[in-house]
Order: sequence, then C-alpha cells, then structure tokens
Amino acid sequence: MVSPVTFDVRFSTWREDAACLDVIDEVSFFPDAEDLSAIARAKAVCATCPVASECLTWAIETNQSEGVWGGHTPKERRSIRRRWIEEIEQAS
Ligand code: SF4
Repeated sequence: MVSPVTFDVRFSTWREDAACLDVIDEVSFFPDAEDLSAIARAKAVCATCPVASECLTWAIETNQSEGVWGGHTPKERRSIRRRWIEEIEQAS
C-alpha cells in the first residue's frame, strides 16, 4: 500500500517560477474535460514552463483530481499515477 503524501507549502518553491502565474487571468488551468481548445491552451503554457516536471510530480504524488498540472489532464495523470504506484509496490 502506498503511503499518503503530505503536502507542505514550504517545499513548493518551484511554484514561484511557474509559467501559469503570468497568464492566470487569461488561461484556465481547470477547463471542462470536453473543452479541448481550453485544455490545449493550458498545455501550451505548461510546455514553456521551467518547472513542469516538479509540477507534474507534485500533482501525481498528491493525487490532484482536477485541472491541468505539468501539462497533463486528470485522465493522463491517473495513468501515470497507476504506473507510479505499481513501481512503488513492486519495489517494496
Ligand atoms: S506546468 Fe503548467 S500548471 Fe504546472 S506550474 Fe507550469 S504552467 Fe503552471
């Protein structure tokens, strides 16, 4: 069984470099699942983000169920998280 990850805001300094901070009023990072153009706009910002890897890791580890994080939708993250959990379980 995977232990829950406790999020501590003190360890999320990567957020200060997030590309979405510059467009937060223009681009939705919590689009409807059917709104493919809005999802594409959010992903385009993530593609330029210097902390995309840290963002995605955080979203996977804390099991964020909504929004585009690290350039990935919730559905895409669920698949990554499943593989991540399998790897942890196989290693233990
Ligand atoms: S990867 Fe996307 S959601 Fe994450 S911090 Fe960067 S721009 Fe924001």
